[in-house]
Amino acid sequence: MVTAICPIVLRVHADDNVAAVGNSGGLPAGTVLPDGIILRRNVPQGHKVALRDIGVDEPILRYRAVIGHATRDIARGDWVDGSALRMPAPPSLDDLPHASGKVAALPPLRGHTFEGYRNADGTVGTRNLLAIGTTVQCVAGVVDHAARRIREELLPRYRNVDDVVALDHVYGCGVAIDAPGAEIPIRTLRNILRNPNFGGAPLLVGLGCEKLQPDRLAGTALTDLPLVRLQDESHTGFASMITAILEAADRRLAQLDTRRRETCPVSDLVVGVQCGGSDALSGMTANPAVGVAVDLLVRAGATAMFSEITEVRDGIAQLTARAATPEVADALIREMRWYDAYLERGGVDRSANTTPGNKAGGLANIVEKAMGSIVKSGTAPIAGVVPAGERADRKGLLFVATPASDFVCGTLQLAAGMTLHVFTTGRGTPYGLAAVPVIKVATHNALAERWHDLIDLNAGTIATGEASVEDVGQSLFALMLDVASGRIRSRAEGLRLHNALAVFNPAPVT
Ligand code: CA
Repeated sequence: MVTAICPIVLRVHADDNVAAVGNSGGLPAGTVLPDGIILRRNVPQGHKVALRDIGVDEPILRYRAVIGHATRDIARGDWVDGSALRMPAPPSLDDLPHASGKVAALPPLRGHTFEGYRNADGTVGTRNLLAIGTTVQCVAGVVDHAARRIREELLPRYRNVDDVVALDHVYGCGVAIDAPGAEIPIRTLRNILRNPNFGGAPLLVGLGCEKLQPDRLAGTALTDLPLVRLQDESHTGFASMITAILEAADRRLAQLDTRRRETCPVSDLVVGVQCGGSDALSGMTANPAVGVAVDLLVRAGATAMFSEITEVRDGIAQLTARAATPEVADALIREMRWYDAYLERGGVDRSANTTPGNKAGGLANIVEKAMGSIVKSGTAPIAGVVPAGERADRKGLLFVATPASDFVCGTLQLAAGMTLHVFTTGRGTPYGLAAVPVIKVATHNALAERWHDLIDLNAGTIATGEASVEDVGQSLFALMLDVASGRIRSRAEGLRLHNALAVFNPAPVT
């Protein structure tokens, strides 16, 4: 049977022996593909079809990488579902290519600017926000109440301030605060308070008896941090606490209200990218388009950050080869080793990453997911590695070591100094952050149409051949500058969809 549908088959590399179906709704058995292959079964969108006969135990190649070995004989035109391949062992961390030097710096890109808020420390924000930091979860209810009051009663008087952000989290007490690994949540919270979007003028609310005392949270990096401590004897009742927070907020708002946007080079932007709710099209449409935009950012001198350790672990050789120096390659390997041990302690490995939705979307395993995820990093040399919770100390393409969990990754990229977030999704997630605008990119047309008021950019046009990866990457770059400048609000920002901070704490809870 020859169908009237024009079949779309997405093959990433000429060496690949499988390719994905691009058509919305998939393709029925009997469809004749462009190179004469006849589909032997119905194949859903994003799922793989064998381009040639593959014998049992032979490698299955996608992205020119071995994503698995055949568990049975697979005929040309067969649907290669998750049961048809066995996952390979992770690549060894010994004897990796080390900063081979073959990856040349990309040519500079000049002439692009955005309108940002310049801070005293040289950083530039994309929004002007009052942040209320917290030392411990105990104060969250009071802080949320105060933030509501600030938004309603004070903010209308300060037209240049965009919003107030309560930085609630579950850390601060009931934790082994001196255990190995506890430095990660502590420095994460400290560096989030230093995020450029907060203009160097956050305030802090503590309880009094918590383990994470304000001095320990602030370290030497934060000075002049106004503190409201709820257990102070000066407070009689709830109203007194709220009044104290509102008074401190009022002074900070007056300070923030003097900030004005000014024209800044793109090199002042700090963009974090990640994916979530991925499907097989993520790696062929939205993620490569993000890679194009990341290359443009790096060429313009900006900081572009990619993360998600379990989604790059299987591609580590690509990353160490792209490291700008041997030290960067060593740092990449150190982060992978640390995370391998962390997962082993929990009795799992990187395969624990994939979700039922990923698999239904056509991603057979973490290897295939990783190959499609890593392309978000584009092609530039990797200039540095930022350990979890640390703040980026240089420009260029950086690997920020974070779990792939959307909220944990977003929280750690905020600590690294991110001022704009790009998030790709195929299954669909309404993800958003209060501290930075989140631009969401859909991997296929059906999601972009169904979630027309939640998705900012549709990369599905790449699958249907309406646009090239380069086209969508260029559009994303232009959209980033508009959103960074406040000319456009992202969908999640406009709807005030804010996920909670999720602080990564590898240390024990007591
Ligand atoms: Ca993620």
